[in-house]
Amino acid sequence: MNIATKLIHGGANIDPQTGALGVPIYQISTYRQTSVDHFGKYDYARGDNPTREALEETIATLEGGTRCLAFSSGMAAISTTLMIFSPGDHLVVCDDVYGGAYRVLSTIFTRMGISSTFVDATDLTAIESAIGPETKGIYLETPSNPLLKITDLRGAVDIARRHGIITLVDNTFMTPYLQRPLELGCDIVLHSGTKFINGHSDVICGFAVVKDTELGKRIRYIQNAFGTGLGPQDSFLTLRGVKTLKVRMDQSQLNSMKIAAWLRSHGRVTAVHYPGLAEHPGYAIHAGQADGPGAVFSFELDSFETTKRLLEGSHLAVFAVSLGGVESILSYPARMSHASVPAEERLRKGITDTLVRLSVGLEDPDDLIADLEQAMGRTA
Ligand SMILES: *Cc1c(COP(=O)(O)O)cnc(C)c1O
Repeated sequence: MNIATKLIHGGANIDPQTGALGVPIYQISTYRQTSVDHFGKYDYARGDNPTREALEETIATLEGGTRCLAFSSGMAAISTTLMIFSPGDHLVVCDDVYGGAYRVLSTIFTRMGISSTFVDATDLTAIESAIGPETKGIYLETPSNPLLKITDLRGAVDIARRHGIITLVDNTFMTPYLQRPLELGCDIVLHSGTKFINGHSDVICGFAVVKDTELGKRIRYIQNAFGTGLGPQDSFLTLRGVKTLKVRMDQSQLNSMKIAAWLRSHGRVTAVHYPGLAEHPGYAIHAGQADGPGAVFSFELDSFETTKRLLEGSHLAVFAVSLGGVESILSYPARMSHASVPAEERLRKGITDTLVRLSVGLEDPDDLIADLEQAMGRTA
């Protein structure tokens, strides 16, 4: 089955009890048992819920994994998964990792004896040089946020395998429609399902997907122990949202290409960071490991005044955190996702005060262009 078909027919989409074209919301916490010796498949909903399971089966199928676990947020998926590591273990992490992942790694996991080295993961030799005897995993995000930097996933997997360690990839920006890291040899795929997978800016959820069944059992054990699983109502909404993933991504990506090309020749825009543009330094690597550039990019403006005018004056693209919704979202990394990074460190990473990120939604691209144009103010 191709992915368009999998999205509609790939999971548990028909309720076996009634034939309903969808798995109902099992809004229930516990299940009756009939035998003292053998409990049924379901006993308590922290562990198992049929609506969550239907969603997990769908996402596992899409990513080409044997098992998916659905969590109450992307951060719940990431932190629960990182608990497979033990005190003394070390990770090599891309230096522009999602802010929330940076926070748990650099404050909470360090306290528990799990350390990380942050490297420029566009450079495979930088990844390899950071690996030491205690290193157990490489944690990546490609394209990265907010500069859309590209890591060669096959190259990273080669390094990991040579050192006998695992590769984890946050695949939120791409979704399984555009990039499937497990097929490239990665071990764990993580997601904020809050973004494109659900796609409607109305659920917070996350996923961990694996190919190896033992690894799946270990993560599932911690998910149940911690109680970080996704609730039934949110599972249902995400199952509904993901059905249109292909058509949403296709259209948002087309819109992105048009808007990025327009911005590139705009007098007030000094750079556009988008792996869909041939001049992007990671263009060829990205094209070799993903089926499209996605619908998020960032760009630099000529001054702080223009930046402020754009963020405060755009009517269609909403000024907000988050991405991946049907509505376009403009965000300001310096004061949103990367506000907690010290200014000097932020600038060193290229996250300037004139950098804006755009997640492109399903509006008419010409309307979006006209709106951005009026907000930035015309060039002389
Ligand atoms: C939003 C996001 C997360 C965190 O997900 P939540 O659902 O907000 O907890 C992790 N990684 C990336 C790349 C994200 O964009």
